[in-house]
Amino acid sequence: MNIWIALAYLLAAVLFILGLKQLSNPRGARRGNQTAAVGMVIALLATIPLLHFTTAGIVVTILGLAIGAPVGAISARRVHMTAMPQMVAAFNGVGGGAAALVAISELLHAGTHPAFQLAFPSIFSMVVGGISFAGSAIAFAKLQGMITGTPITYAGQQVVNGLLAIAIVSLAVANLTVASQPIFFVTLLALALVLGVAFVIPIGGADMPVVISLLNAFTGLAVAASGFVLNNFALIVAGTLVGASGTLLTTLMSQAMGRSLANVLFGAFGQIQVGAGGAAATAEGKSVRAGSPEDVGTMLAYARKVIIVPGYGLAVAQGQHALKELADELEKRGVEVEYAIHPVAGRMPGHMNVLLAEANVPYEQLKEMDEINGEFPSTDVALVVGANDVVNPAAHTTPGSPIYGMPILNVDQAKNIVFMKRSMRPGFAGIDNELLYDPKTIMLFGDAKDSLTKLVAAVKAA
Ligand code: NDP
Repeated sequence: MNIWIALAYLLAAVLFILGLKQLSNPRGARRGNQTAAVGMVIALLATIPLLHFTTAGIVVTILGLAIGAPVGAISARRVHMTAMPQMVAAFNGVGGGAAALVAISELLHAGTHPAFQLAFPSIFSMVVGGISFAGSAIAFAKLQGMITGTPITYAGQQVVNGLLAIAIVSLAVANLTVASQPIFFVTLLALALVLGVAFVIPIGGADMPVVISLLNAFTGLAVAASGFVLNNFALIVAGTLVGASGTLLTTLMSQAMGRSLANVLFGAFGQIQVGAGGAAATAEGKSVRAGSPEDVGTMLAYARKVIIVPGYGLAVAQGQHALKELADELEKRGVEVEYAIHPVAGRMPGHMNVLLAEANVPYEQLKEMDEINGEFPSTDVALVVGANDVVNPAAHTTPGSPIYGMPILNVDQAKNIVFMKRSMRPGFAGIDNELLYDPKTIMLFGDAKDSLTKLVAAVKAA
């Protein structure tokens, strides 16, 4: 390889790593994206001299860029925050599919007995890329509501999946040791696609972000293997970075949910039946204290310190701007306001950070769980806006609960608690939250955005 191309790839790799580093902090995240994008442009420009300049090659490259670039740019600009997981699934899936197609093309050209160093990464890339493509397509369809989001299960499912995996490994070994025939590797790709579907259908729709992160790691590995096939250093580095960061993110998300990765993948979590509203609770004779926006507004206006706990419902209601307005009003009155950010609040990593950044909430007011948990006892009001599981004390007190062991925000230690939600329905985990019935809790029922707007008026009037 030409020394200048090698140096350009090295520069691109350095920019990818710097970009990732900047992404790890909200302040640098935007710059991190730009840094990595510059790296990608350099890698693309460096690749052009390597292209076979046949007419077909040029036409395919131009067509690919002309279709892919606008579709990517327009969909990324238009996508709603809450639909981000399915967009990542779509982008991730096409990456895996592309890696599988490159592998097939190389195998078709390589004859019946290709060198092991070409055949092995090609087969690996085809199988892993195929699983990622099909799995991501199902994840996309679940999140987009095109198919049911509840787990699709049947007796002996894990056995069938295990047999599929064994068939894939056996065929791969045959392809590597006996002969590399199109019938072998096309069957192998078909089986990988079936396994991708079979692997994702039993997983609940709301667990999809974890699965997408895992499939993202798969795509990274498939792309890195493509790098070995094509002898392309930039692909090896970029694929390895995606593989490693996807694996880390998957592990961190499972940990923050207090569940093992095996439980997410094989536990059919979304099957838990959600109770109807607060009916069960009322039947048990527990009472709930509901307040008006005026009651809560007065309480907030005369507090010394308020911690806001945002959750999934804030994103659904798109109440972030009204929330910022409320915080501004409180600060004008001298109230100290902070935001407590749970690592899996919402439905994707960093969901709350991005949501609040949209409303220009200052980064220094966003406090991570470990940092803020000690502050709840000295807090006058914990204002829980559309969050539920991430503050549910069952995670500490109820062995056997689906969230037992999950680290939570210690809202129960605040002097007063306000829950803003529409009903007594549970959150994603489908379990009752004792804190809603706590004597120091006030429920402010309604859509979060509406209630926040009313609270702003109430605080101004107090
Ligand atoms: P939850 O899902 O526990 O609760 C959200 C609450 O928001 C619900 O109780 C709902 O109550 C309320 N809500 C919904 N819409 C509105 C609205 N328009 N206005 C007001 N309230 C509304 O959310 P949390 O953020 O507390 O917890 C996240 C959950 O998601 C955790 O269990 C986590 O494990 C899981 N998860 C997170 C991922 C991530 O990466 N962040 C990935 C996958 C899963 P009501 O219907 O009564 O309004």
